[in-house]
Amino acid sequence: MNIPTLCAAGAVDLSKVAQWLREHRDGFLADLRAYVSLETPSNSKPHLDRGLDWLVAQLSATLGQPASLSRVDGGGYGDVLVADFDGAGSRRLMLLCHYDTVWDAGTLDAWPFTVSGPVASGPGIFDMKTGLVQALWAVRALDAAGLPRPPLRWVLNGDEELGSIVSRPVLESAADRVAAALVLEPGVDGAVKTARKGVGIFRIDVRGVEAHAGLDPLKGVSAIDEMARLVLRLRQLQDLDRGTSVNIGTVSGGSRGNVIAGHAWASLDVRVTNPAEAARIDAALAALTPSHERLRIEITGGWNRPPMPRTPGIAAMYDLARTLAEGLGEELRECAAGGGSDANFLAAMGLPVLDGIGAVGSGAHSRDEHIAVDPTLARTALVAALVHAFTLNSPGARP
Ligand SMILES: [Zn+2]
Repeated sequence: MNIPTLCAAGAVDLSKVAQWLREHRDGFLADLRAYVSLETPSNSKPHLDRGLDWLVAQLSATLGQPASLSRVDGGGYGDVLVADFDGAGSRRLMLLCHYDTVWDAGTLDAWPFTVSGPVASGPGIFDMKTGLVQALWAVRALDAAGLPRPPLRWVLNGDEELGSIVSRPVLESAADRVAAALVLEPGVDGAVKTARKGVGIFRIDVRGVEAHAGLDPLKGVSAIDEMARLVLRLRQLQDLDRGTSVNIGTVSGGSRGNVIAGHAWASLDVRVTNPAEAARIDAALAALTPSHERLRIEITGGWNRPPMPRTPGIAAMYDLARTLAEGLGEELRECAAGGGSDANFLAAMGLPVLDGIGAVGSGAHSRDEHIAVDPTLARTALVAALVHAFTLNSPGARP
């Protein structure tokens, strides 16, 4: 594993970086206002393009010209930006953010960006527009303090809220030759996310044989009867002790009350904490067999994001961050999250990842979405410390 050692990282005094950020609170908020005021709903390409254009301009204003930049066309989805900037040492650090939000265009009309005392709010501010602004200001703070930063790879994703369908292969190839990744998603009550569940989204179709329910009750084979049996079997796959939940969220089928049902279908949501449980669920679904030779069972869908267990790489990143936080006078807690993020993809590739290092606040995907400004600025100093740490003890070899 190629991440900095704790003692070397802990030896750097970054209090002046935190101080500089506190002094630049107004500038930070001005950028946040500008960016939150550019709506970037996942489902509107023109809005996403304008948001990404703004971010690209901020990147070059902050870091200069990139050593390389590619903007991968997302088609109807947001483009994916991968931009490399040179830096000190040989460890390249990925900063991963998504710039799409769940908020439709026009939401700002009734809910503009506002700062009210210690709190700022607006659509997408917590998940995760603030994380992008934090990453920019972390770099500015290091530059102002004269502290080096490592080679950085910025990856900006425009379809995360839709499941990263288009961006996933781009993210995975961008993980090549990077030492580690910071994912600037928001935290949970200030805690970083060192484990996430994997999410499986499946559909089950059962095909039976229709017949007149009164005249030919023995001619038909009911798809609904079979689905009822399957629902009970699927429920038995739940194992909360191992962190696996199983939910049949919708069931439908049949055509008339007097027709034996020829078709029934159901949706299945599965959450798992580790790959072994995902494999157990896969095997159980593959082993489902119809109870009658004239019935057919079809299962479609799959794992939207793999589980992110707390790997040694994730644990090492958390230890590094916690040590740096102590140096800044902060306690950094960790937690496991039930939902997935792009960190799941990177962790599944074996990359050391720290997720949830972005905004401090709450209310993701709700009208209560907000950030706590001063704790978020303090967390930005920690992001700067983490970025800087990747220049320490840098081995001569390429990462
Ligand atoms: Zn997010």
